[in-house]
Amino acid sequence: MKVAIAGGGISGLACAYYLQRAGIDATVFDPAPGGLIGTTTVEGCVLETGPESWLAAKPEAEALIREIGLGEQIMESNEARRRTYVLRHGSFETLPEGLQLVVPTKIRPVLETRLFSWSTKFRMGLEVLRSPKLMADRSVTAFINDHFGTEAVDYLAEPLLAGVYGGSPDELSAASVLPKFVEYEQRFGSVVVGALRDRKPAPRSGGARPGIFKTMRHGMGTVIDNLRARVNIVTAPVEALAPGDTAQELWRIYVAGEWQGFDSIVLACGANHAAPLVAPVEERTGQLLGSIPHTGSAVWTMAYRREDVPHALDAFGFLVPRGERGAIMACTWVNTKWEGRIPDDKAVLRCFSTNVEVTREEVERDLARLMNVTAEPLFALPYRWPGSMPQYTVGHTARIAELDARVARIPGLHLAGNAYHGVGIPDCIRSARAAATAIARAAVSAQAGANV
Ligand SMILES: Cc1cc2nc3c(=O)[nH]c(=O)nc-3n(C[C@H](O)[C@H](O)[C@H](O)COP(=O)(O)OP(=O)(O)OC[C@H]3O[C@@H](n4cnc5c(N)ncnc54)[C@H](O)[C@@H]3O)c2cc1C
Repeated sequence: MKVAIAGGGISGLACAYYLQRAGIDATVFDPAPGGLIGTTTVEGCVLETGPESWLAAKPEAEALIREIGLGEQIMESNEARRRTYVLRHGSFETLPEGLQLVVPTKIRPVLETRLFSWSTKFRMGLEVLRSPKLMADRSVTAFINDHFGTEAVDYLAEPLLAGVYGGSPDELSAASVLPKFVEYEQRFGSVVVGALRDRKPAPRSGGARPGIFKTMRHGMGTVIDNLRARVNIVTAPVEALAPGDTAQELWRIYVAGEWQGFDSIVLACGANHAAPLVAPVEERTGQLLGSIPHTGSAVWTMAYRREDVPHALDAFGFLVPRGERGAIMACTWVNTKWEGRIPDDKAVLRCFSTNVEVTREEVERDLARLMNVTAEPLFALPYRWPGSMPQYTVGHTARIAELDARVARIPGLHLAGNAYHGVGIPDCIRSARAAATAIARAAVSAQAGANV
């Protein structure tokens, strides 16, 4: 069995690794292998080009990393200093403790916060009285507005989700982005009641809080480097797909000026890049892939002398709600979030924007306005990622169900990546493993058929 994988980001590389582990010959094709994940070290600072961590609650990334022998290098975010600021009327307010994403589970921090008004706090209290409801999919804005009001949309849901999805809650699907809360609404009416019931017990007194995020001590790029060294990679794009002409060779791909035959194809190149490859072969599947909108993003990594940043950096960073936004949507204070990554005499501010073209001047203007940082940076590195963030818009679940059903009926075609069942790194790895498992099963049945 010979498999071609289009795309060598974490999804494609993980898929190739799992296939190879199953004894299947897989080749990754990608003009720029590694995808969004990469690490550079400048003046002793360990810096990420794209993603910087994964959610510890999702086990797939850690399982893969341990399996490839990098378990010792996993580190947790600095929980002792976990705190996030949200900008409100030009000043930083602490995100209340005990939020399950956007849902409050502790009374006191909500009563004390200045992030929203008393009427929103009152609504949050009354929300527990709601009755169970089954609703059609609706936007995150409609969902949160219905439960907690507009201030909770503007100062919780929008800034929190914008950093993850790079999109507007007015368009994102509640069923896809907040599936647990939609389930709570159906079961209990109140999402607060649901979140309280499912709340994990607090660590015993004196026990350290487990890190909510995990990363690699020397950067996320170490995972990519390890996988790249294990699998076959051809540094070229897949330019076209065509059905093969024998039962053994179900697919042909056009790469580096020639057609090559394979038994299976995994498209791990992003739905936006997969769409034009698939459309000439299977029109509706191509349309469904193309119907998933993608936005872009940029990360400016700004490094300063520590004394030039007149702030305690006493949090993981800050979020800027859309009503108060200039260029920066979110900023990570790398020194605080990740111990040991930045030398003590420097401060690194990792600034995230959904404007791919955002300029250094715009970022510096925001840092001056928000943090009073006016010094010349030691260095400033832009990483621009056009079309990198799939948008799970209203109706996403239904569209993906149709897409999955169609792809399942096309022999030898598989999808992996961030556009379908979750955008995080663990979700991508889960999708890669599912594609590899399906191919391995097909290989076993083909072998059994050949032995009959
Ligand atoms: C700025 C940013 C920060 C993020 N931060 C986090 C985070 O901290 N934690 C987290 O869990 N997630 C984060 N995410 C999301 C996560 O990084 C991505 O969902 C994940 O890395 C996607 O991996 P992938 O392999 O599916 O796609 P990619 O990494 O985009 O790789 C796709 C690959 O396909 C290749 N390709 C495209 N067209 C073709 C073709 N025709 N033929 C062959 N190859 C092709 C590209 O060159 C690329 O290398 C972040 C995303 C962004 C943009």
